[in-house]
Formats: sequence, C-alpha cells, structure tokens
Amino acid sequence: MRDKYNREIDYLRISVTDRCNLRCSYCMPDGINKVTHDDILRNEEIIELVKEAVKIGIKKVRITGGEPLVRKGIYDLIKEISSVKGINEVTMTTNGVLLIGNVKKLKEAGVSRINLSLDTLKKDVFKSITGKEMFDYLELIKELKDNGMEPIKINVVLMNGINSDEINEFVELSQKYDLLIRFIELMPIGHLEFSWEDHYLKNEAILKANPNLKLFKEDLNTRYYKEDNKPGAIGLINPISKKFCSRCNRLRITSDGKIKPCLHKDDEIDIFDLSTSIYDKLKEAVESKPEEHDIDESKENEITRSMNRIGG
Ligand code: SAM
Ligand code: SF4
Repeated sequence: MRDKYNREIDYLRISVTDRCNLRCSYCMPDGINKVTHDDILRNEEIIELVKEAVKIGIKKVRITGGEPLVRKGIYDLIKEISSVKGINEVTMTTNGVLLIGNVKKLKEAGVSRINLSLDTLKKDVFKSITGKEMFDYLELIKELKDNGMEPIKINVVLMNGINSDEINEFVELSQKYDLLIRFIELMPIGHLEFSWEDHYLKNEAILKANPNLKLFKEDLNTRYYKEDNKPGAIGLINPISKKFCSRCNRLRITSDGKIKPCLHKDDEIDIFDLSTSIYDKLKEAVESKPEEHDIDESKENEITRSMNRIGG
C-alpha cells in the first residue's frame, strides 16, 4: 500500500519484547520494565497482526526488541511468522549474545539475515556501554558465515568520546572479514544515561577519518562506502544529520501492541482498541505516516518512548 507521499509501505518491524539481557547506556540503562508480561503481544496476536499486515501489502518482517532472543519460544514464533503466506523475508536485529550456538536454529526457523549490534571491539568499553561482559563476536561472525547468513551487517551507534576512537578498527574489521559495518547516529530517543549532545557525533566523522572510502552504493537508509579493491564496506545511517524519510517503507509494532507510523514521533495506534479492525488500524497507520520527522540537532523534539520498547 502507498502512503500519502507515494511511498510503498511493505516492511514491518515487530518488537517482540521490551526486555533485554544488556543495559546499553543509550537505550535502557536502568533496565526497568514498566510493561508486564500480560501487556506484551502474545504469539497468536502477532500472527494475526502479520496476516492482516499482508493484506495492506507488507512483505518483509524484521523481528526486534528489546532483545528478541530473550523472548520465550522465539524460534517457534519466527517459524509461524515465516510461514504466513505473503511474507517473503524475515530478518532480525539482535545484540548477538544469545545467538552463539543457535545460528542454525534461527536459520531453520526462517530468518535469512541478521543485523548484529556491536558498538565496540574493546572489552572494557563493552562493559561500560552495556553493563555486561563482552561475548566472542568473532566466533559469532564465523558461525554466521558457516551457515551462509550473509551479508553480515553490524550496526555501531557512533558516540563521541565513547567509541569514536575505534572507527579505524571497525573499518579494518569490515575489510578483514568482508562485513557491512554500519554506523548509526545517536538519536535523542528514550532515557539516555548521558546528555545526548555530549556524545552525538555526525557520521561524516567516519569519512574524515578515512578519506580512502568512496561511495559505491545506496539503499533505503544507508550510504555504503568502500576502499578500492578491498572487501567489506562501511555504511552510514544518518537519521539526524541527513534524514531519509522520503524513502521510508515501514511501520513498527511495539512490544505492547501499538502501531507506530514513524519511529521519530510519539504518535501510536493501539491494536487493542476494539473500535476498529486491525486491518483498518494498519491502513490508518500507513495513511497517517508523516512526510518526515522533526528531530534535528536542536534536540527540541525528543521522543519519550525508549528504543527497547519501540524496536529499533
Ligand atoms: N537488542 C537488539 C539490538 O541491540 O540489536 C534489538 C533492539 S535495539 C533497540 C535495535 C537497535 O537500536 C540497536 O542497533 C541499537 O544500537 C539501536 N539504538 C537503541 N537506542 C538508540 C539510540 N538512542 N540512538 C541510536 N540507535 C539506538
Ligand atoms: Fe538491549 Fe538492544 Fe537496547 Fe542494547 S540496544 S539495551 S541490546 S535493546
């Protein structure tokens, strides 16, 4: 289905839990869950929603959270989602901690690709960002490759003074293991443990630090750069310094059953409001998608719902 601005909306991101096994300082540092288990969408509600979403033209689903792999029965839920007629791709965004040893199982459940979030390659910095011990990400990369889960995309939230000194290490990692490493600008969303402006850094810092990187392709939200004759690539996702709203193709479902027409706005449509059907609510969400979000470096329009509850 097309929205008012002629964008084809065919992609649904579902947050299957607001819980997480990490405590990222820019996402859910206090780990407090205001949502009880009873308020989280149940498997049958998610499946019904996906079936209705197919009717408005959704073809791809991304499973996210919180950390999707902490949800009980997640592999069975994925199997059910992937077998919904009309869904031709299921992907996942994960911090990877619980994925080691389970890649084959995830693939067999129907996930064809994952985005792995990894903000640092240093053990001490990992501990200070996430509150937990570093896991063996190289082992996970190997397991993903062995199972043909490629291209492997790694998402890094760029934070000035926290991981901005690791840009070159990430570039080297992408070249050594042929990875797509994508830097995401820090967003003023939710309850950051620090002041957003203290650590926000425009993604152009990456290109300044690596003048040999040359633009070679662009997709919906990412510009990819690479060095001549080297494997791997670096992607820049710039939601703040260069909006990509004109190419937005998605709706989001929060873990507690709200449809979000736009990540960067507080507007939500409650699935449990019985006055209209789920199909009508999904249509309404597409029709009410704004032309673009209002967040910029002035930080005047912060979003109050944190990313673990929206599903990044
Ligand atoms: N737990 C999973 C993970 O970390 O990949 C999935 C959920 S997490 C909310 C999804 C993505 O949102 C992660 O890549 C995370 O780094 C990103 N994210 C969370 N808060 C953010 C913020 N304030 N600014 C930019 N990205 C953020
Ligand atoms: Fe958890 Fe992902 Fe949020 Fe980190 S970014 S706290 S891993 S949901």
